[in-house]
Amino acid sequence: MNYGPLGMTCSHQPLCPSADASDREAAHTISAHPEQGWSLLCNGVLLFDDTGELLPNGVVIAPHRPTDTHPEAFRHLAS
Ligand SMILES: [Zn+2]
Repeated sequence: MNYGPLGMTCSHQPLCPSADASDREAAHTISAHPEQGWSLLCNGVLLFDDTGELLPNGVVIAPHRPTDTHPEAFRHLAS
């Protein structure tokens, strides 16, 4: 059992990536709120539908897809 920073549990096998892993978005969604544009993953990450993220430790990750491949086309969305 993997207890996240917010006391959430991951009972998946294999365990989902932790909130500080680079593949944190691969964790399972445990609470989806599409009408509000965000989902809560079982590792405590809030994943927004623009690919932005809010980590359990308060760190905000700016939207990053598809900005990885075409940053010039999406720069106005990053701020
Ligand atoms: Zn999980």
